[in-house]
Amino acid sequence: MEDCIFCKILKGEIPNHTVYEDKNVLAFLDIYPHAKGHTIVIPKVHAETYFDLNEELLTSFSNGVKRAMENVQNKLQPDGFNVGWNQNKVAGQVVPHLHMHIIPRYEGDGGGSIHSIIKNPGEKTVDEISKLFE
Ligand code: AMP
Ligand code: ZN
Repeated sequence: MEDCIFCKILKGEIPNHTVYEDKNVLAFLDIYPHAKGHTIVIPKVHAETYFDLNEELLTSFSNGVKRAMENVQNKLQPDGFNVGWNQNKVAGQVVPHLHMHIIPRYEGDGGGSIHSIIKNPGEKTVDEISKLFE
């Protein structure tokens, strides 16, 4: 896509520090890292969100995420990871090209868990919400 910054990285118009690459995905270091080795993984096709990838692309994407995590593990030996993506503006997505954040975690790094993103469960009970899925 024309003015997508991550498509520009894929075309080689913007440089990147590659962590892992195969025919379907590119993983590179985040330029504003939130942890040592913070890595971004993108599919090589422009897709805005997870909903826009078909099963085949999702499989290759998640394989790429794993391979990138293994490379980070081997080079930096973190003690754990938080891995996830921001989907849509409300959730913090700034770049409109799907990307998985691989955030390596180190003992004593002072960070939180995925639960620290939000604590605002709304008025409805879990039982009430569960009815929607019956
Ligand atoms: P998000 O808020 O999920 O859209 O995250 C976008 C991420 O992309 C941020 O963590 C940025 O630091 C990162 N980012 C933006 N431009 C670049 C770039 N040229 N190279 C590497 N990372 C980038
Ligand atoms: Zn793109």
